[in-house]
Amino acid sequence: MTGYLSSPLPRRRSVGVTVGSVLVGGEAPVVVQSMTNTDTADIDGTVAQVAALHRAGSELVRITVDRDESAAAVPKIRDRLARLGIEVPLIGDFHYIGHKLLADHPGCAEALAKYRINPGNVGFREKRDRQFADIVEMAIRHDKPVRIGVNWGSLDQELLTRLMDENQRAGSPRTAAEVTREAIVQSALLSAELAEEIGLGPDRIILSAKVSQVQDLVAVYAELARRSDHALHLGLTEAGMGTKGVVASAAAMGLLLQQGIGDTIRISLTPEPGGDRTREVQVAQELLQTMGFRQFVPVVAACPGCGRTTSTVFQELAQKIEADLRRNMPVWRDKYPGVEELKVAVMGCIVNGPGESKHADIGISLPGTGETPAAPVFIDGRKAATLRGPAIAAEFEQMVADYVERRFGRAGTDAAE
Ligand code: SF4
Repeated sequence: MTGYLSSPLPRRRSVGVTVGSVLVGGEAPVVVQSMTNTDTADIDGTVAQVAALHRAGSELVRITVDRDESAAAVPKIRDRLARLGIEVPLIGDFHYIGHKLLADHPGCAEALAKYRINPGNVGFREKRDRQFADIVEMAIRHDKPVRIGVNWGSLDQELLTRLMDENQRAGSPRTAAEVTREAIVQSALLSAELAEEIGLGPDRIILSAKVSQVQDLVAVYAELARRSDHALHLGLTEAGMGTKGVVASAAAMGLLLQQGIGDTIRISLTPEPGGDRTREVQVAQELLQTMGFRQFVPVVAACPGCGRTTSTVFQELAQKIEADLRRNMPVWRDKYPGVEELKVAVMGCIVNGPGESKHADIGISLPGTGETPAAPVFIDGRKAATLRGPAIAAEFEQMVADYVERRFGRAGTDAAE
């Protein structure tokens, strides 16, 4: 992984956990992960979606392992991905019968890079601890880390009831919301303690405690961070669709990341029917990049437009340049080392256009209302060309591609050496 910004923000020190080839926690930058929504038994569909998520930038991908057919498919999915040259670590998401699936399908247990266990639905009463222990023992046997992922929608009801009863007997009882938050934190911490007692090292345990309200998430993770040094996976569960899901996730995780809390993130967006699953990866990257933690893709600075702009040309150009850069990144990352630090400006008129363009590596200032129909292009702070006519957009796109080749391509590197 390359191109990390040196973080100006303090990071909570957590125990690093190696998940396949990826380090989560410790000194590592915050890792982006995602989850498929295909039926894992559908090998073709799952391979295609894992590949798409990985190409979009997901560094870990979680898949559902809910029944024998899914577990049997996992090693085949792993092999197919390897044949495509994709080595992204796969995480198995287990509920209810994970202990049985892992025991019955050793190929699945081996192919996965991490197991996710939800202590709230691993079993009930005496079965719960035994089945939890079975999965932890399986992780130890296969040398895999686990994520102990509490979710308030499936919170351990026995623990919650006990804490509610204790609270009622207390002199100054807390609110039901406070007790629920405490139950979520305790469920994660007690499960981690149990896993350690069974023999799983702290460097093999990641914790998460997902809730659906921003303030609950911030409170629960702040407490988890205060009471343990386990690596933490952040995610707002049931964040929702569209703008609401993006804003809620960014607000919640932004507040935590700003405090140095969180070692890996997933943005749980509900896609539109037939929508693009990779959107959750893009949002996660943009959150980390916007906050200055990591640099994934070149930045396109574009003005919002106003009454001075006569057409949508600059909006379309800004959108197209941004989409092109993102689409090219899977190839460019290897071909043009450092290209994620490129800064492009697409501005709508002369007011801020030339100034912003000069600050970018390459920028264009399109003509606004009443301005001469010419678009000056600035490269490395100097005016390099003036574009005119209907092909401005295509010519500027070509100039960006040429600039990338010249500056980040091998020839450019050799020339600079
Ligand atoms: S650069 Fe020009 S078009 Fe863009 S917002 Fe500023 S004044 Fe408006």
